[in-house]
Amino acid sequence: MKIKLGLLYGGKSAEHEVSLLTARAVSQAINFEKYEVYPIYITKTGEWIKGSVLTGPAESVETLKFGEAVSKPNNISSFLPVEGNDDSQLDVIFPLLHGPNGEDGTVQGLLEVLNLPYVGNGVLASAAGMDKVVMKQLFEIAGLSQVPYVHFIRKEWKSNQETLIQKMEESLKWPMFVKPANLGSSVGITKATNREELIKAVELAFKYDRKIIVEQGIKARELEMSVLGNDNPRCSIAGEVLPTKDFYDYEAKYEDGTTNYAIPAVVSADLLERMEDAAIRAFKVLDCSGLVRADFFVTDEEEIIINEVNTMPGFTPISMYPKLWIESGLSYSGLIEELIMLALERYEEKQ
Ligand code: ATP
Ligand code: MG
Ligand code: MG
Ligand code: MG
Repeated sequence: MKIKLGLLYGGKSAEHEVSLLTARAVSQAINFEKYEVYPIYITKTGEWIKGSVLTGPAESVETLKFGEAVSKPNNISSFLPVEGNDDSQLDVIFPLLHGPNGEDGTVQGLLEVLNLPYVGNGVLASAAGMDKVVMKQLFEIAGLSQVPYVHFIRKEWKSNQETLIQKMEESLKWPMFVKPANLGSSVGITKATNREELIKAVELAFKYDRKIIVEQGIKARELEMSVLGNDNPRCSIAGEVLPTKDFYDYEAKYEDGTTNYAIPAVVSADLLERMEDAAIRAFKVLDCSGLVRADFFVTDEEEIIINEVNTMPGFTPISMYPKLWIESGLSYSGLIEELIMLALERYEEKQ
């Protein structure tokens, strides 16, 4: 009997398009001999649409965007193929969603309630990993080095703008990186080099979130590492992001092709070992499962400073997370297979 696999993709977040690319790539790598694949598309407005079973790889992203919404978002369980609704009780779901309402524990919570096994991180790790402030607080507990930062919510900014700016100017050096606390793909992030830019950047970031983090900018190498597993996670080789522009922004990630990558990164054995240790500590302090991509800054003195982890990192075959595994000897299909097995294993353990 084939394993019934639900691919969940799209979503309400700013990373909708990226998710579609991932879904197509996964559909092209999945073993259709072993899996019966059900696409579940979440539109930009949050409607969940179940498509009919895929008989082969999706040829284009368009084929994965189903036309008319067939169901209302407040009635999700009626079209998720769960028992009683349909002939097809899914065995496992692969959420291919990035950002809020997908990578942040909300969908994971829904799947828990529906008692469906799913790939990747659970509610806690997803939620804590999505909120850059909470994540940093946990990293501190794990003894990981970080850049200095300040955080505040919209209400505090509205009533205390001048005090907050002073606090930032006193505790952080220029340039500063202004970020919405809960997002990804560099959406809403600005590098500010003076007060005027800072105010503009904060106002932009507030379009995406009610909570903001402002970090001291650092001039350093950007190194990333993939972690895979549940209770005994292992690390891939390291990769390096080499942006040719100011920083690794949305366009540099997905659009303008200006970014270079070094895979594997040129690193000493000692640095690699310390990165592995930091990546595993980050994985454990957030109580991750399945996968995480740990993003680091490495200074000229080879100090490792953790920037963040992504609990559902970019997942097309040319994205850093799978590429690091491919270069470590695990193919894209093999990686998908292992993640599904890890999901089933974790589910079994909970029963
Ligand atoms: P993703 O989830 O796609 O990896 P994100 O939206 O969570 O990205 P970050 O990784 O925090 O955002 O930052 C995006 C990029 O901005 C980094 O890869 C780096 O190039 C730059 N950047 C972020 N913070 C700093 C900092 N404190 N100093 C220097 N550069 C930074
Ligand atoms: Mg991120
Ligand atoms: Mg991300
Ligand atoms: Mg990042």
